[in-house]
Amino acid sequence: MDKVDGDYVRTVKNCVFSRSLPAPLRAPVTLAAVSKSVIEDLLDLDIRVTQTDAFLHYVSGAELIPGSIPLAHRYGGHQFGYWSGQLGDGRAHLLGQYTNRKGEIWELQLKGSGKTPYSRAGDGRAVVRSSVREFLCSEAMQALGIATSRAASLVVSEESVWRDQFYDGNVRKERGAVVLRLARTWFRIGSLEVLTRGGELDLLRKLLNFIIENNFPAIATEDPDKYLVFYSTVVRETAHLIAQWMAVGFAHGVCNTDNFSLLSITIDYGPFGFMESYDPNFVPNTSDDEGRYSIGAQADVGLFNLEKLLESLQPVLTTSQQQRCVQHGPHGVTFHQLFKAKLGLLGEEEEDGNLIAFLLKVRLYLAVNVSTRVNPRYVLRNWMAESATRKAETNDFSEVVLLHDVLGNPFIAQDAAEETGYAARPPLWGRRLKVRCSS
Ligand code: AMP
Ligand code: MG
Ligand code: MG
Repeated sequence: MDKVDGDYVRTVKNCVFSRSLPAPLRAPVTLAAVSKSVIEDLLDLDIRVTQTDAFLHYVSGAELIPGSIPLAHRYGGHQFGYWSGQLGDGRAHLLGQYTNRKGEIWELQLKGSGKTPYSRAGDGRAVVRSSVREFLCSEAMQALGIATSRAASLVVSEESVWRDQFYDGNVRKERGAVVLRLARTWFRIGSLEVLTRGGELDLLRKLLNFIIENNFPAIATEDPDKYLVFYSTVVRETAHLIAQWMAVGFAHGVCNTDNFSLLSITIDYGPFGFMESYDPNFVPNTSDDEGRYSIGAQADVGLFNLEKLLESLQPVLTTSQQQRCVQHGPHGVTFHQLFKAKLGLLGEEEEDGNLIAFLLKVRLYLAVNVSTRVNPRYVLRNWMAESATRKAETNDFSEVVLLHDVLGNPFIAQDAAEETGYAARPPLWGRRLKVRCSS
């Protein structure tokens, strides 16, 4: 661990975490919404606790939960196909782990809680609109049966945060917000890549062993093939996750290796989007000019990211293990077959090269053999998040709360949701909405 005082940014070696304190948001801060199931089922708290000042202080970063030693994680990543070096985490503080009464270990993070040693040019903050989206979509994905990080709470503040506006190129003042989010682990492909590329191989091995021991209980620690088994598990689970995304028409938007979880859960909700009608070229992120992360490209991008994971494991694999990885890995047929198996398909389809067009078609015709039930009535469309955000900007959190409730039961028609038109086509004003990275 690397201790850092003050507020400076650097590229470092041989560390996975740095101590870093959350920077409190400017008062007044308001608790906009909480997720009851996260509070009660994952954190073992009585929901009434969320009305206390102490809770607000903890979830806004103003006070540390007793025993917490907040850390910022050092990771790197491939962004839009290119190695970008050390990237983050620039605006999340890991508060610690909580073992709940079911024996599950959850890592708690604040996002938007201020600068860390890895903030680079960023301000360490997150704005209301992106925090509303993360809060709502992570809980919505959970309700759809898709593996995801969770969101416990959303806090908004009077802190001024300056962001580029995509429509006129100007910089506009927005308000800072913080989400308390949970995952079984927040490690990503980029967590390993930064170590391999930096030649930090002892630490790479140490971190891998830690991740396997803590998050892959089915892999025996003394198994000589444990890194190989780890890799094929991530390949299988990532294929499963992407198949689930496709099944509900979800485009992540920024499928960089730093946003791909080693536990194959959906993390880092940025400019994601849900497809309105069949279109493999659907690109949710306006900054993605080339459509690299179009919905139809997600399987190929998954392949690319898994290849990068394999590259980062190279130093800990023997030559024969590397060869076996290639055979069982994301290259070629196997990965395609995985997808097809997930979708309950047998035999060869027309052009498997264009796997995704086919997946998307399949979605409309066939029952999907993933744990996701198909055709939810409600998904978080951009216009809904935008409508909730506009109200939240005026301290009216009613639509955030309504959407959270509605999306918690996405397969069942609900009166309040029907009245608001959540199952219908977007209203006129909402048809041309765009989302971008600047969040
Ligand atoms: P993303 O594309 O959202 O995954 O962000 C890429 C990296 O930039 C991550 O390591 C983030 O932590 C970092 N980052 C994004 N926005 C900010 C910000 N406002 N301040 C500091 N770091 C940021
Ligand atoms: Mg990210
Ligand atoms: Mg992000």
